[in-house]
Amino acid sequence: MPCMDRLFAPWRIEWVTREDSGADIDGCPFCVLPEREDAREALVVAESEHAFTLLNNYPYNPGHVMVIPRPHTGAYTDLSGDVLADHARLKQRTMTALETAFGAEGFNVGLNLGDASGGSVDDHLHTHVVPRWAGDTNFMPVCSDTKVIVQALEESYEQLHEAFDEQPGTTRLDSGSVFIGE
Ligand SMILES: [Zn+2]
Repeated sequence: MPCMDRLFAPWRIEWVTREDSGADIDGCPFCVLPEREDAREALVVAESEHAFTLLNNYPYNPGHVMVIPRPHTGAYTDLSGDVLADHARLKQRTMTALETAFGAEGFNVGLNLGDASGGSVDDHLHTHVVPRWAGDTNFMPVCSDTKVIVQALEESYEQLHEAFDEQPGTTRLDSGSVFIGE
């Protein structure tokens, strides 16, 4: 039995490069990914002026995303008022999309800040938003092979993308991600 129950510690398994993805990242992934031409490939689902929503490459639960302010900083106190407000608003919209797409019944929302916090990308802050369901003690992809993880990610992307698309005041960017206006 290769799978074991795990503690609920989604913050410790953040952005991890899939070896087979062919997506070599040169530099900070959270600066590089939103600039990619193909948002689907980059797993960028939605964007706003100062932030974007990225599907976690190694999700704890289906729909596990990170809402990331665009400025490259690991210090929450560095964020300007505009960025803070926009980031918070995108978190709201992301939770709404997760409810629509997956019927999420609850969320764990959190930041790892500083070396001591246990995060793996600590120089560009990012808020994890993990959808929860009553009794969701298991997480399939952790116990599965890479092919299954990729399929699960593609399906999650489609569902979440559609849910964002349905929200009011959204447009499509050339990359394919959903832009959330005012
Ligand atoms: Zn960065």
